[in-house]
Amino acid sequence: MRINLLLLLALAGQLSAQGNYTPGQSYFGTDEYIEYIPGTLPLLLSAPHGGEKTPASIPDRDCSGCSYVNDFNTQELGRALAQALYERSGCYPHLVMNRLHRRKLDANRDLEEAADGNPNAEQAWTEFHTFMETARTQIGQTFGKGFYVDLHGHGHSIQRLELGYLHTKTELQLPDSVLNLAPYPTDNSIRKLSAANPNNLSHAELLRGALSLGALLHQRGYPAVPSPADPFPDADEDYFNGGYNTNRYGSYNGGVLDGVQIECNRNGIRDNLSNVERFADSLAVSLLQYLQMHYFGPQAPEWCTASAVAAPHTHGAPQFLKIYPNPASDYLVLEKNGQAQAPLQLLLFNFSGGLIQSLPLDAPQTRIALPRAQFPAGLYHYQLFLGGKSLQSGSISVL
Ligand SMILES: [Zn+2]
Repeated sequence: MRINLLLLLALAGQLSAQGNYTPGQSYFGTDEYIEYIPGTLPLLLSAPHGGEKTPASIPDRDCSGCSYVNDFNTQELGRALAQALYERSGCYPHLVMNRLHRRKLDANRDLEEAADGNPNAEQAWTEFHTFMETARTQIGQTFGKGFYVDLHGHGHSIQRLELGYLHTKTELQLPDSVLNLAPYPTDNSIRKLSAANPNNLSHAELLRGALSLGALLHQRGYPAVPSPADPFPDADEDYFNGGYNTNRYGSYNGGVLDGVQIECNRNGIRDNLSNVERFADSLAVSLLQYLQMHYFGPQAPEWCTASAVAAPHTHGAPQFLKIYPNPASDYLVLEKNGQAQAPLQLLLFNFSGGLIQSLPLDAPQTRIALPRAQFPAGLYHYQLFLGGKSLQSGSISVL
């Protein structure tokens, strides 16, 4: 342990000597086994099982019951996700990657199982978590809250995303009314969010309701469990519910971040690089919406001061969305301007600021008619988002 402490201090000294991190640039630990790309979004991403390096100086791990199988294309997914978030919001997330093959280091286990006693692997493990802690501290100091995603790939037969909040599948099989009772809301990786969120959603709603991460991903064509369409894994179905990192960096033990382990299926997501990029974009948009809906509200802060912002400006811009008639009496029509870039998201708020609907407008159709019956008479506020940027906002009066 003494050696690790010294290495940790050496690493910290080396980083502070370099001054502040530059968002979007790569920083490396010893022998480039661990890579950290710092960001300014309140999002921490990690890819612990996507490495390919197999240095002879680190013997293969040989421990009872250990897994040595890599998660194919998850390092590529981490990089593509960081890039997509940048393109959508103009800002980078924090991304930490283990570039060692899992045979050499498992960066989603405690030190003993992760490194199997090898000093070089222990050093890499320590550096991985030093970068993780650095990013978490940075997000905490800037925002006081944020979200963590641990990226993995599963080989299970059902082709769906497995979202792990540290609930077992037996727990997820419980009805919402039970999941909302002690001890479940405080026994998971989003307990901070469950304790207080802007829309006063229950724990079960956060796990698998209409505004859950599973719902946002399902809306974009990526089936996920838990989600409204697939609320829990059946008893005979395989499911990963979250590991060491989700436990450590989510809010299970406190801390500023909530978190989830995303286990990605292979078909259509990790099987080739164009599918990786397509999924990364959908996940990026979903995560930005998630941050707005559940953490920062419609008045989301400027995540960064980067000059290169991908989203169009609002001033002098055309209307991206026409909403009529206004005031509305029988129905409400949302009509997308042909110039509007997909995918857009419309959030509707009631007069007191509560979110009542979140509509993805990235489908090919340009018009959506909403039955008036869905809206009690009153004044509503809407905001239209492209990725992390608000494009347009206004009021709708319903008679
Ligand atoms: Zn994994």
